[in-house]
Amino acid sequence: MRRAKIVCTLGPASDDRATIRELADAGMAVARLNASHGTHEDRAALIERVHEVDAAIDNPLSVMLDLQGPEVRTAPLDDPIHLETDSTVRFVEGDAATPEEIGLSYALGAVDPDDRILLDDGRIEARVTAVDGDVVTARVVSGGELGSRKGVNVPGVDLDLDVVTERDRRDIEVAVERGADFVAASFVRDAADVLAVTDAIENAGGDIPVVAKVERAGAVDNVDEIVAASYGVMVARGDLGVECPLEDVPMVQKRIIGTAQDAGVPVITATEMLDSMVSARRPTRAEASDVANAVLDGTDAVMLSGETAIGDHPVRVVETMDRIVREVEGSAEYDETTEGRVPAAAEESQTEALARAARYLARDLGAAAIVAVSESGYTARATAKFRPSVPVVATTPRDRVRRQLALSWGVDSQYAAYRDDIEGMIDAAVDAAIDAGAAESGDTVVVLTGMMTELEGTNTTNTLKVHVASETVATGRNVVNGRVAGPVFRCPDGDLSNAPEGAIVVLPATFDGQFAGDTGRIGGIVDARPGMTSYAAVIARERGVPMVSGAPLPDEVADGTTVTVNADRGVVYEGDVTPREHQR
Ligand code: PEP
Repeated sequence: MRRAKIVCTLGPASDDRATIRELADAGMAVARLNASHGTHEDRAALIERVHEVDAAIDNPLSVMLDLQGPEVRTAPLDDPIHLETDSTVRFVEGDAATPEEIGLSYALGAVDPDDRILLDDGRIEARVTAVDGDVVTARVVSGGELGSRKGVNVPGVDLDLDVVTERDRRDIEVAVERGADFVAASFVRDAADVLAVTDAIENAGGDIPVVAKVERAGAVDNVDEIVAASYGVMVARGDLGVECPLEDVPMVQKRIIGTAQDAGVPVITATEMLDSMVSARRPTRAEASDVANAVLDGTDAVMLSGETAIGDHPVRVVETMDRIVREVEGSAEYDETTEGRVPAAAEESQTEALARAARYLARDLGAAAIVAVSESGYTARATAKFRPSVPVVATTPRDRVRRQLALSWGVDSQYAAYRDDIEGMIDAAVDAAIDAGAAESGDTVVVLTGMMTELEGTNTTNTLKVHVASETVATGRNVVNGRVAGPVFRCPDGDLSNAPEGAIVVLPATFDGQFAGDTGRIGGIVDARPGMTSYAAVIARERGVPMVSGAPLPDEVADGTTVTVNADRGVVYEGDVTPREHQR
């Protein structure tokens, strides 16, 4: 299983149902919708399409609506225009689009002479020469082709735009109405900006978690408070590399990832990861190394933007990214880095302390997996924080949480319905781990449960348990209590002469006779017929052997296979999972 997740931006190259399905099959865990493009109606329909694909596949697929935020863009253009180096250009609010006058979505009146105006991620640079109200004149320092609706950055200048624009509010309504799993907040400066987005979501009647994009120089200074106020963060390197000196980006990336991991907050590393694959069939070596380094930094997820939104080979890009990530995660260097960087548990967080212990328990016992039974997702995210070396399978009764956990490092999230007993919840979770291929019957797993207790400090009934995974092969009713393991012996006519010592005697629905031979060889009885008073039940009571009735054993469980009868719970498991094994 790959541990770092893949976020794909959907766009004209990938927003049809068939391609979304192919992207998911190739490894997409989160579909990102960039609200800077398209209409609200497009996004509403797209959220539904992603949910439909999620419903049709085994692995969770979540959807993140990325707000445009207080972003300034150039006017729409049918054809690109060329801005000559050393030419003079006026920036005005509106739809103008000539080499002499460029319309913008917001006036730049707050700039001063000598400030820099950067267009299209800094590919074109102009320097302000005069400001007359909202009309700004500038000299083009570095010219180039300007396309339609390109981003405009004025580093270090506060344009006094609201962090949640009217357009964003409408997008938030769409996200709430259609059930987006995350909202990404663009151009936040501090925790107050993140809270403003959270408030806007609440005012629209939703409770969607916010992923804060760190893309402003000021936000980098406030990263601790932003991380504390957010569900997740994104290292949005596109704008970051324009707003900050380019050479700052690599270390800023490492610091943000470290801060987020220490806080147990999922972090996405974004932009230009495999950019050349927008048109090329193979990435550059530098791009492959960039993905690998983000994974080594400990990122929860790596993101594709134009590569999947408008690129020529969207599915191939995801396959390529998947291979790069798997290669890193299979390396000794990755193990060493991960093992050497286990964060501390947050003070007084019982869940984190247990999750950290689970990590080391799983490693030291050679467990096959950690199974996290999680209601809000908190226990599962706490488990991911410590980057265990074994797979993490999380079960949750909330479908939204199942999808949201798709963003978290190493978590394979599965739906499991509420049960009224914790043992039942654990059994369902372990079955999910077996179904997911993370564990086999008989494997040791470490189980962490956080159900009903996930609000920190509410009570102290979180549990950590070393458990032997056991696959349920039959369920029925308890006739005689006890737990015993032994070889299956099908006994259609009651003849015990060939029964091995300690046999689990399996009676078919047609059994109507009596036992012949040594009943002392019977270790347990599994009767397909219901009832507590049958002849077999009388023998089980007489001999004190565990018995379950109304439990037809499937034909796939061959004679001689070891099974465990846990009559107290009315369950037959594959393999030997008697208490002695549990205490191993
Ligand atoms: C970025 O700037 O890196 C980013 C992800 O944001 P956007 O694509 O919205 O500009």
